Amino acid sequence: MIWDRGMETMDRDRLQSLQKTRLNWTLRWARERLPFYRERLQNIVKLDERAADAIEELPFTYKSDLRDQYPLGFLAVPREEVRRYHASSGTRGKPTVVAYTERDLTLWSEVVARSLAAAGMEPGQTLQNAYGYGLFTGGLGLHQGAERLGVSVIPASGGNTERQVQLMVDLAPDGLAATPSYALYIAETMHHMGISSQDVAVKTGIFGAEPWTEGMREHLQEGLGIQAVDIYGLSEITGPGVAIECVEGKNGLHVFEDFFFVEVVDPKTGQRVAPGETGELVLTTLSKEAMPMIRYRTGDLVSANPEPCVCGRTSLRISRIHGRSDDMLIVRGVNVFPSEIERVVLNQPGVSAHYQLAFEGHPSRPELVLEVEETSPGSVDQKTLSTHLRAALGVHLTVRVVEPGRIPRSQGKAVRVVRRMVET
Ligand SMILES: [Zn+2]
Repeated sequence: MIWDRGMETMDRDRLQSLQKTRLNWTLRWARERLPFYRERLQNIVKLDERAADAIEELPFTYKSDLRDQYPLGFLAVPREEVRRYHASSGTRGKPTVVAYTERDLTLWSEVVARSLAAAGMEPGQTLQNAYGYGLFTGGLGLHQGAERLGVSVIPASGGNTERQVQLMVDLAPDGLAATPSYALYIAETMHHMGISSQDVAVKTGIFGAEPWTEGMREHLQEGLGIQAVDIYGLSEITGPGVAIECVEGKNGLHVFEDFFFVEVVDPKTGQRVAPGETGELVLTTLSKEAMPMIRYRTGDLVSANPEPCVCGRTSLRISRIHGRSDDMLIVRGVNVFPSEIERVVLNQPGVSAHYQLAFEGHPSRPELVLEVEETSPGSVDQKTLSTHLRAALGVHLTVRVVEPGRIPRSQGKAVRVVRRMVET
């Protein structure tokens, strides 16, 4: 189902002219209200009707800028116009705070409603929302968008997994929203409780907030008896609902381009790359009042596909996130993304979908160890797994096989990399 047919299937010429009008509004709004942008924008372009043509000349905004302006240096409206705050966890340093006006919340609900419809949900259905509620945007973001679509919500939040499964049996939700790693744990818990996918009604999985692979999709679709799609978003831009896969195509995530302007750039030079080439996703908000973002460097590596989609939506699609540039690990000089490792692990028979990467040894010479779980004693062919990893990554990785259940389960965002270095 297409929630806003007019916008989502708009002719691309019309869409681009709408983007230009909104981009001009954003540039003027940001320059008038934020010292940060006033300084940066004043000498670079004349903010007249042609400003939007010159977006490539504008400087980027980085996560570090948000940290430097902590807490509310990017706030473009008076405090009394703010209706909600969210904040990042700050696991990689100082947290960042984001704010929304009433209109920002309405527009966010709108893109989430479109997302859920693209995933296959319909008004009148029920969604179990196992994203964490609170400062994280996943819980409340999905919640308000589901209500906007006319879907009833079970605000289960993360954790308490057996009760989560019980709710799925008792209230028969049609959809489940969670991080893919938590969905995996829910599926495993169902299995342990003796409940099969036939005993629950869930048909749609909306999974995001961490990178995941096609292998994980197959695993989740099979384990839960569902169609699973990838949803993307980030609090700096709005939260979940920036982009989503359609259930018909499952081949790239449609970006809601009437609200978000997309560029894909070479992470080193900052120059735009051609369609189909991988680069860093850069987003500019087109309607956001409380915290407009201009050319925000997401750190997420994607490629863009402007080809029409089978579902009828005309928006640009971005590939699944290969990984954030700051998730990249360096193993003996070779760049490795955890998602590449996941791809190999999930193709290997006898290995569970739970895995973890550990840096061990002395800090001056850390060794990366991949821990995988066998599904039954002796089920993992360690040698074949090592060979496949070496072929895929171009570097040798030590593999350690552990017994079922040993790797910690995720109840939110998965912790894929741990450090167990010896202190001397
Ligand atoms: Zn589509």
